[in-house]
Amino acid sequence: MAKRIKSLHTDLFDEAVAEFCHAARAVALTGAGISVESGIPDFRSPGGLWSVFQPDEFATIEVFLHAPEKAWKLYRALGETLIDKRPGAAHQALADLEKAGRLQAVITQNIDCLHTKAGNRNVIEVHGEHQHLHCLQCEFQRPFKHADLADGPVPRCSECAYPLKPNIVLFGELVRDLQRIEQLLDQTDLLLVIGTSAQVYPVASFPYTVRSNGGRIYEFNTEETGLTPTADFFVRGKAGTTVAAFVHAVLQHEG
Ligand code: NAD
Repeated sequence: MAKRIKSLHTDLFDEAVAEFCHAARAVALTGAGISVESGIPDFRSPGGLWSVFQPDEFATIEVFLHAPEKAWKLYRALGETLIDKRPGAAHQALADLEKAGRLQAVITQNIDCLHTKAGNRNVIEVHGEHQHLHCLQCEFQRPFKHADLADGPVPRCSECAYPLKPNIVLFGELVRDLQRIEQLLDQTDLLLVIGTSAQVYPVASFPYTVRSNGGRIYEFNTEETGLTPTADFFVRGKAGTTVAAFVHAVLQHEG
């Protein structure tokens, strides 16, 4: 049963901080919620992209292969939300934690590259990233350009004219780096789960892998999720406030 932390000025919060300081190999798992305060909406909240673009109608690899212009409708709407965005306080806090040697890696479902921009070096982007387009036919790759978001024909490969695909994982495609992640999780003794509804598999299973190896789970979210009953601590609130305060307290605690 999770210990629920509703205020950052409680003994329970101090207990979570103190326990974290005993972890030898902590890892963070992040989702769309960590980037909401950077101005990138998540998908599932009311008004999010999934309410306009049904995933099975726009976001599958089959749709891209048979009707790329449809997949590009979603990508253009998503791309508009991603350009020129900057890391927030929670991204920055995770970068500070890694720099202090207290975080092994960030596994993120986000495609916005904000962890790398914040300065984290060991980032695993399971669902890819939005800054490149690639060709499924000849493997040509080029950086994404602002002009790619303008309405019009689907961008095509300059080598073979096949429709270019954003370097992001669509439903029906394999997530990236699964083997590396499994090795990492097998050694993880504490997982910070931040801003994810923990519904998209296989990522949703990662906390349970850590749990079954005896690791601890700390969840940071504005609302409870299916994972909450399994977590050791649930910290309610916006990641920019809660994660930043948590990391600050950890780094102070360690002197
Ligand atoms: P999700 O939309 O399913 O869930 C977001 C979670 O974040 C929710 O549980 C919500 O309560 C929580 N949340 C919202 N605002 C928060 C805040 N300020 N602080 C803390 N928590 C907050 O997101 P998901 O679980 O990451 O799955 C969605 C999929 O869509 C992922 O695969 C992801 O790649 C993709 N996506 C990525 C981005 C991005 O790159 N920034 C944005 C939208 C969706």
